[in-house]
Amino acid sequence: MSAHSTGNSPERGPRFVLSLHDVTPSTRESFNPFIRDAAKAGVERTSLLVVPRWHGGPSFTRDEKFIVWLKELESQGHDISLHGFQHVAVYTTHSPLTWFMHRIYTAGEDEFYRISEEEALHKLKNGLEAFKGVGIRVVGFTAPAWLMSREARSATIRAGFEYTTTFSTVELLKTRRCLRAPTLVFSTRKEWRRAVSKLWVPLWKQMNKDAPVLRLAMHPRDLEHRDIRKIALNMIEEIASTHTPCTYRDLLPDAPADQEPHATAEQTT
Ligand SMILES: [Zn+2]
Repeated sequence: MSAHSTGNSPERGPRFVLSLHDVTPSTRESFNPFIRDAAKAGVERTSLLVVPRWHGGPSFTRDEKFIVWLKELESQGHDISLHGFQHVAVYTTHSPLTWFMHRIYTAGEDEFYRISEEEALHKLKNGLEAFKGVGIRVVGFTAPAWLMSREARSATIRAGFEYTTTFSTVELLKTRRCLRAPTLVFSTRKEWRRAVSKLWVPLWKQMNKDAPVLRLAMHPRDLEHRDIRKIALNMIEEIASTHTPCTYRDLLPDAPADQEPHATAEQTT
């Protein structure tokens, strides 16, 4: 096991990653204006977690508009990342326990959870091939719903990925550093209600003041309502006021100098 890092690198200061999940041709139009608004709120680069064949549908490589859009974002310093292959597990046989875990416990998002290393490697390589075929460089992988087996994690290393993420960490695979990286994610009504309070984000930041990285994970369903988008943008502004925005890729030790934040943002809380 790699050691968890809890201290902030003094020359860099704490970081903030805006992580956009389930990016596909059909969610492009939801994410596009949000990415522009996030830039106005202080986050100019995000990590986009792309699913190559959402629920077994056609490959994203068939959508020319989507590829042009991804490449444009990549050229602006956004980090294009692999997020599962189909984002759903496919089982040919079902035991009652497997059915329960798949449909109820993991809501079908266990694509990389009960999987052999070889199966995981096959999916990861297919994903990388798809990006390579359209000229997009990908160095990171995040499993759907952060559900990743030990075997799948080994496969990410064998496939050559440089980082992977869990709900609470970002793991830099080449250096075996595991950064504590708490995530705000809005999967329940209770969490959104909490988020409406202006006090919640400063309190959450205070609770995680030693974490080198804070993250906000946004899913397409979060962008469906104007009010929720507004709350998220306020959060982005609040976190970016004290934490230097960057992508997952920028956390890698060999990130290009122009991707590095030049100064630690002023502490305002
Ligand atoms: Zn997802």
